Amino acid sequence: MSVGQTLPRRPTRVVWVGKVRVGGDAPIVVQSMTNTDTADVAATTKQVADLWRAGSELVRVTVNNPESAAAVPRIVEKLAMMGIEVPIIGDFHYNGHQLLTAEPACAEALAKYRINPGNVGFGKKKDTQFAAIIELAIRYGKPVRIGVNWGSLDQALAQALMDENASREQPWEAVQVLREALVRSAIDSAERAVDLGLPRDRIILSAKVSGVQELIAVYRDLAARCDMPLHLGLTEAGMGSKGIVASSAALAVLLQEGIGDTIRISLTPEPGASRTQEVIVAQELLQTLGLRAFTPLVTACPGCGRTTSEFFQELAKTVQEHVRAKMPAWKITNPGAENLTLAVMGCVVNGPGESRHANIGISLPGTGEAPAAPVFIDGAKAITLRGENIAQEFVALIDDYVAKRFAPTTNT
Ligand code: SF4
Repeated sequence: MSVGQTLPRRPTRVVWVGKVRVGGDAPIVVQSMTNTDTADVAATTKQVADLWRAGSELVRVTVNNPESAAAVPRIVEKLAMMGIEVPIIGDFHYNGHQLLTAEPACAEALAKYRINPGNVGFGKKKDTQFAAIIELAIRYGKPVRIGVNWGSLDQALAQALMDENASREQPWEAVQVLREALVRSAIDSAERAVDLGLPRDRIILSAKVSGVQELIAVYRDLAARCDMPLHLGLTEAGMGSKGIVASSAALAVLLQEGIGDTIRISLTPEPGASRTQEVIVAQELLQTLGLRAFTPLVTACPGCGRTTSEFFQELAKTVQEHVRAKMPAWKITNPGAENLTLAVMGCVVNGPGESRHANIGISLPGTGEAPAAPVFIDGAKAITLRGENIAQEFVALIDDYVAKRFAPTTNT
C-alpha cells in the first residue's frame, strides 16, 4: 500500500437489507439507531425520518416488548407515507423469539433482525431460542446481524475457552482468550444459523468492544476468519469529542485496511442534542478517508494570533452549514456536488496556498493586512471581496460554481 491509498476492500458476500446492498463492492453503508421508545410511534417515526434525512441508510430500533413490536409496522407504514423507504432493523435481546412469533406484522415489516448470541437465551433455552429466531428469519426471508458485544459475551463459551486455555502448555493472556471468545461466538453462531438453513448471504457479523486497540484486534481476526460482511462500531464510545475521536481512531484503522461494510458511530448525545450527529460523524469519517463523498467539506485553518476577529470562524461555520443544507437538493439537481472542496483561511500565511488547492477558497485578511479577501477558483485568483457582505457574496460564488460545474447532463 502506498501513501494515500486504502487497501482493497476485503472480499465478502453481498447481503441485501431491504433495498440496500451491504458487502462485496457496495459502498460502505452508514447506519444509526434511534433512542426513542419504539412504542411511541410518532416520536420514533420522527427520529427515523431525521436520521434518514441526515443520511442514515439503515436505521435500527429497539424491539423489547409487545408494544414496541406492535409499533414497528405502523412506523414503517408512516415512513412510507412520508416517502421514506429506509430499511428498519429490529434490535432484539432476550425475548426476540417471542416478540417475532407473536407479532408477524413486525417480523414482516423489519428489513433485518439483529440478535446477540450472548443474551438470546440462557442455559438449555439458548439453542432453542436462537433456532426460533433463525427459523423466523428464514420464513420471512430476512437477513440477520449476529452482533456480539463485549458487555454481554456468551459466558458459557467464555468459561469453556478459559478452561481450554488453562490446559495449554503456554496459556494465553486472559484478554486474548476473551478476544477469541468474541470472535468464536460470532463465527460459531453464524455457522449454527447456516446449519439451521439460513443462507450465508443473509448474515452480517459484528463483534463490538469499547476499547480502540481491542476493537482493531478483534475485527482483524474476524475478517481473516469469515467471508461475511462486517458491521463496524466501537460500542459505548461515549460523549462529545471523546466518542468521536475513539470511534474514528478505531474505525479509520480498520477501514484503511479494507475491513468493514457498514458502520455506526455509537455516540452518547448531549442532553437535548440531535441524534443525527452520529450520522454526520460516520459520513465525515468515510469522506475524510476518501471512501465516499456525501457533502462538500470545508478546509479551515485553526486561526491564531494573526486572525483579526471571530469573522473567520463564523464564515467557516456559515459555509459548512450552507452546503450541508443545500446538499439534499444538489444531490438531485447537481449530482457530483458532494465532491466540491472549499477552503476558508484566516490570513495570507497559508490562505492563498490552501485556497488554490480547493475548488473555491477564500483568504481573509489577517492582522496588519489590507481589508480584502481574495477568492481562488480552481487554483486561480478570481475576485477580491471587500466590505460588509463578504459572507453572502462568498456563498453566492459557491452556489454559482455548483450550478455551472455540476450542471445536470441532458441527453439531446
Ligand atoms: S492561515 Fe494565518 S490565521 Fe490561519 S492559522 Fe495559519 S497563520 Fe494563523
